[in-house]
Amino acid sequence: MREIPLDARIYVAGHRGLVGSALVRRLRREGFTRLLTATRAELDLRRPADVERWFARERPEYVLVAAGTVGGIQANASRPAEFLHDNLAIHSSVLHAAFLHPVERLLYFGSSCIYPRECPQPIREESLLTGPLEPTNAPYAVAKIAGVTLCRAYREQYGCDFVAVMPTNLYGPNDDFDPESAHVLPALMHRLHRARRSGRRRVAVWGTGTPRRELMHVDDLADASLFLMRHYEGASHVNVGTGEDLSIRELAERVRDCVAPEVELAFDATKPDGAPRKLLDVSLLRGLGWRARIGLTEGIASTYAWYLAHEGSSRRRVATASAARGGVLQGAA
Ligand code: GDP
Repeated sequence: MREIPLDARIYVAGHRGLVGSALVRRLRREGFTRLLTATRAELDLRRPADVERWFARERPEYVLVAAGTVGGIQANASRPAEFLHDNLAIHSSVLHAAFLHPVERLLYFGSSCIYPRECPQPIREESLLTGPLEPTNAPYAVAKIAGVTLCRAYREQYGCDFVAVMPTNLYGPNDDFDPESAHVLPALMHRLHRARRSGRRRVAVWGTGTPRRELMHVDDLADASLFLMRHYEGASHVNVGTGEDLSIRELAERVRDCVAPEVELAFDATKPDGAPRKLLDVSLLRGLGWRARIGLTEGIASTYAWYLAHEGSSRRRVATASAARGGVLQGAA
C-alpha cells in the first residue's frame, strides 16, 4: 500500500460534477486538507497553455481527472462535436500538464461506453478496441478511448503513473436531472417527481425497457478511486462496477416505487435503446479486495432525498445542465 500524506496537494478536475463532487466529499471525509479545484471561469481545461500555467503555479502531487462534457443518450446524439472536441481537448491538456509538471499519480476517469457494443458480457478490460462502438455515443467513447490510450502511452514512453478507471453507469448527488440531457436514473426521477406533484398518472420511459444497465452510486466510485490510488500497481485500466445489472424496465419500476408509486410507466419505443447491455466484469478490482457497498434501492432513496433537499436551489444541476448546452463544462460521469 502506498501512503498518501493527508497534506498532499490533490487536484480534482471537474469538482462540481457528479464524479468530482463525490471525490471531494470522500477525500475531505478521509482528512485530506489540501484539495485543489478550479471553476471553469478560473481555468478552461480545453486550453493547454492555461492548464500548463495552472499546474506550474499550483504544483499538484495527485490529479483526479473527472472533468468533461457529459450527458445521456439524447445529449450525446444531439451534440457529437462538442462531446468529442471538449473531451479530447480537456484530457490531452490535463494529462500533458501532469507530464510536464510531474505528479505522483494521476487517475483518469473513462466510461463503460468505451467498450464495443456487442462485446461479451460481463465486459472484461481486454475487450477494449475489439469491435465497433455503440453509435449513439461513439464520439464521446472515442474521446474516452483517446484518454485511456494517453494514460498508457505516457506510462510507456515517460514512465508517468497514469491510471485509467472505467466506471459503470453512475448516479447520485450533483447529477444532471434535466430530463432532456440526463442519464436514465436522474431523468426518470425528475419526471416522476414532476408527475407526482402535478397529479399526472403516466410517465414516459424512453426505448423498449429491455436494455440492461449496471448502476452504481457515485460514492462507491469515490471509495474505489481512493482504494486504487493506494493499492493498485498495475498498468491496465480498471473496471469499477457493482457486478450486477437490471433491465431499464426494472430500473424504472424501482425509481417509480420510490418517487411516485401510483404512476404508470409508458415505454416510448420511438426513442433509442442504445447498447443492449453494459455489465462490467469487476474481477480485477474484486481480486484486489474492493467491492461496491451501496445497494440500488438504498442508493435511489438517498439520491431522491438529496434531490428533494436541493429542489429549486441553485446547486441543483437542472440549471447548470441547461447552461451546458451553451458550452459550459460539466464534471464527468
Ligand atoms: P447509456 O447507458 O449511455 O445508454 O445512457 P442513458 O442513461 O442515457 O440510457 C440508458 C438507457 O435508458 C437507454 O436504453 C435509454 O433509452 C433508457 N432510458 C429510458 N428513459 C430514459 C430517459 O428518460 N433518459 C435517458 N437518458 N435514458 C432513458
